[in-house]
Amino acid sequence: MRWDLSQLVEGTDPVLVQKRLRVMVAEAEEIRDRYHGKIKGLDQNGLLRLLEDRDLYVLRFDGIANYCSLMYSADSTNDVAKQLNDAFRSATMKAGQILTFIDIELGELLAQNISLVTNSTFAEYRHCLERILRRVPHMLSEAEESLTIMKDRNGIDAWQMLQSDWLSTRTFDIEIEGEKKTLPYGKIIGLYESQDRGLRRLSNQTVYQNLGEDEIIWASALRAVCTDHLQMCELRKYPTPMAQSLISNDVDQQTVDAIMNTIKNSVGLYQRYIALKARLMRLDKLANYDLTAPLPATSDKNYSWKEAREEVTSVYMEFDGEIGGWVDEMFEKHHIDGEVRIGKESGAFCARWLSGKSAYILQSYNGKMNNVYTLAHELGHAVHDYLVSRLQKPSNCQIGSCLAETASTFGELLLTERLLSKAKTKEEKQAILVHVLDEFGMTAFQVSARVFFEKSMYDAVEQGKFLGGENIAELWMSARDKIYGNSVDWLDVMKWEWTMKPHYYMANYRFYNYPYVFGQLLVFALYQVYRKEGRNFVPKLKMFLASGSSRSPRELAAEMGFDINTEEFWKKGIAQAKEFVDTLESVL
Ligand SMILES: [Zn+2]
Repeated sequence: MRWDLSQLVEGTDPVLVQKRLRVMVAEAEEIRDRYHGKIKGLDQNGLLRLLEDRDLYVLRFDGIANYCSLMYSADSTNDVAKQLNDAFRSATMKAGQILTFIDIELGELLAQNISLVTNSTFAEYRHCLERILRRVPHMLSEAEESLTIMKDRNGIDAWQMLQSDWLSTRTFDIEIEGEKKTLPYGKIIGLYESQDRGLRRLSNQTVYQNLGEDEIIWASALRAVCTDHLQMCELRKYPTPMAQSLISNDVDQQTVDAIMNTIKNSVGLYQRYIALKARLMRLDKLANYDLTAPLPATSDKNYSWKEAREEVTSVYMEFDGEIGGWVDEMFEKHHIDGEVRIGKESGAFCARWLSGKSAYILQSYNGKMNNVYTLAHELGHAVHDYLVSRLQKPSNCQIGSCLAETASTFGELLLTERLLSKAKTKEEKQAILVHVLDEFGMTAFQVSARVFFEKSMYDAVEQGKFLGGENIAELWMSARDKIYGNSVDWLDVMKWEWTMKPHYYMANYRFYNYPYVFGQLLVFALYQVYRKEGRNFVPKLKMFLASGSSRSPRELAAEMGFDINTEEFWKKGIAQAKEFVDTLESVL
């Protein structure tokens, strides 16, 4: 159950690893010496060499980078791991700073000579160049850019830090089974998923009442962040507050509009699911603290690591032999760390290893159904990495947030199909479907409310309204009600829910939410098509994933015959969710 990281490097002697990190910085300096100030004067061959040099650089050092950071994730108490991770972080930061000139100078070159983007010499880099070009009109002069960085350091960055420091230093007094406790934020939120409904209610009430008392702090921070963003949009000539995020997510406004309209028109389905979950929980109506709560009758079925391995490998093997082979290889070559132990990073992730055309997965496996889902999810990421690293140059492996969860969530749906077909009791089936639909509801619907909320804040500022705590709370509740209508009873204090969402306060994280809605609906839509087309769909999906960032999501979908700028496409995702809701109703 432990991974073997030695495959990532030529030697594991820490002295050699440190030396290799110094080489990493030195080679970045060599690239800078070769190209700095000269990119505008490059001929076609020179430009191609630059792009290839940059890709080769990534491939030369991604093994060592993974080695240092994964070793630390696996055991943060290990002194060698700490030292190597520190050395790796500072080397990566240095190398990154040394190489930032490339995109800036490339942008200037492309702006002067737009035809380079479509020149056949750069066919493999076309979309990568298009994306750089799309940013050019919004760049400021060098002096303005450096002033912006200075302004942000003690401006929006400081507001973000205040929000995060304030939240993490709050303590909450709560009585659990007659015992008075004072818990930090990170601990008390663990009670939200408790089997005990009273405790779920009490923990929500305690947290949000307490956070609401500091409304002035949260509102001041958020108001500053929103106003700053609008001013920067004006300075950078972004036509709308969402434009910057559209460019970085490689999508169009029409696509986001089609998604959001589909969501608005489908809230009835989500509300129907919420009513079904209420019946399963033997309640008249769900309260906000029941939305993601476990079912009372959840079976305690356990899966050994061996069983989990067999389940997930068969799931992928049945979908496609090649993919199943890669999943098997992940286990065989010890690229997965599933062991539970102290010092290991919590949660789960999949790290891509481009030069090895593979990946590494970390999770803490406890034998629950959720853990099997997590394993299938992370292996989906790994499959995506196997596909993309075999076909694309590193420049085309920058998979954006909209597509990042395609293979992972698709893998979860394949697992769902298998678990449902093997489930013996009604309760087992209910638990599987609720797991899938809770996640779908949160990611597609609840997250959409946050998109509406963020937009409404910019609208309010543009209309000259003052964003005080109560006003922001009004906007929050109105966005929430667009999704939930009357289907949920909200504690009054839930109007302060926006106070603790860190991404609202982060610099350059505007409209962080809609890619999640995009991703979730996309996968449900693709799964729906797979159910209809069967085997014929498999090579299409593999090509879609293997294309990485070599084309935009819209182009890639068009190659499969879909227009993601239409609601018709996104409704396929809703149709798949409806099938799950229907199935759940049939096993009540
Ligand atoms: Zn994921």
